[in-house]
Amino acid sequence: MLELCDFLKINVNELLSGEKIMADSYDKRAEKNLLAMKRELEEKNRQMLRAEYLVLFPAVLAGIVLIFVAFYVSMSAWLRALLTAFALVMIFTVAFIAVGIEQKAGYYACQSCGHRYVPTYWQTNLACHAGRTRYMKCPACGKRTWQRKVLTKED
Ligand SMILES: [Zn+2]
Repeated sequence: MLELCDFLKINVNELLSGEKIMADSYDKRAEKNLLAMKRELEEKNRQMLRAEYLVLFPAVLAGIVLIFVAFYVSMSAWLRALLTAFALVMIFTVAFIAVGIEQKAGYYACQSCGHRYVPTYWQTNLACHAGRTRYMKCPACGKRTWQRKVLTKED
């Protein structure tokens, strides 16, 4: 056996269980890759949610400033109306875009059964919400609960 090992340039352990060791290390590598992929996806979702607030807050702030200007600075009625309309359209447009980003980043977790899923755009947009926690119907158990935003499909 030792001679065979020497001839093949492997140790006895490898001769006896070479295939198993290779399978093990392969499994570990696959597991590691999966974990890295999961982390990457999680990070991508985190960045998307950051981007949501980065587009939403400045636009809402600018819109509010415009509305204040329209009401407190003396100007003609048509200009006041135009400015207000512009501010409202801007706030709504950006809010709709922000909901789209939020809907696509990560999942919502059902409070009742723990199911994590991605709802449709309109289901997300029309749901009552407090921040990113939305009151929606779970597709798995059918219950309506306040569902919080999570970054991964599993814990
Ligand atoms: Zn559920």
